[in-house]
Amino acid sequence: MKKPQAITRLAREFEKIPGIGPRQAERTVYFFIKQGPDFIDGFTAAASEIKNLVRCSQCRAVSETSPCATCSDAARDSSKLLVVASSADAEAVEKTGRYDGHYFILGALVSPLDGINPGDIPVAELLSLVRKKRVSEVIIATDPNAKGDTTALLIAAELNGACESITRLAYGLPFGGDLEYADEITLTGALNGRKEISVREESDTGRE
Ligand SMILES: [Zn+2]
Repeated sequence: MKKPQAITRLAREFEKIPGIGPRQAERTVYFFIKQGPDFIDGFTAAASEIKNLVRCSQCRAVSETSPCATCSDAARDSSKLLVVASSADAEAVEKTGRYDGHYFILGALVSPLDGINPGDIPVAELLSLVRKKRVSEVIIATDPNAKGDTTALLIAAELNGACESITRLAYGLPFGGDLEYADEITLTGALNGRKEISVREESDTGRE
């Protein structure tokens, strides 16, 4: 029996999604067929709405408007800027209810093995935002692991002198942990106990 072309065509689209193989893609198509027209219409309408989203020109979050609602909120403290790897990390910090400053989303952490080099991190955009908004404290909230550490040092070095202080979250998490999955109490403690990153100490160590 010959398989309808429409099935193969949609399965190929699903296969483009990371983590979905050919068999799973085809199973998903049959699932759609089984659900019927209303489900398919709802799915395509929801997928189509994503097309209207934009990237916030300030924090880089995916949003309905640019600047996004958080960046345009006059009640927030514009002297503080918290740098995170992803929107999910920003949401985790926001959920603690203990942070009232602004955010900057990197989109990735330095990871040469995955092909992500320092040049792929939007440090220039971050620096220009810090200057434009006259940010006094940049809080680096990258994950407490090798990628997060490398990225934090890169940012600290590039922003050196552009603001009054550059701090990093003091994690109560074991090394290798993930900010996104930290509970609210741990995150609040990490925010309150944030420590200054000293760029000079890092670069002077080798010379002395
Ligand atoms: Zn924004």
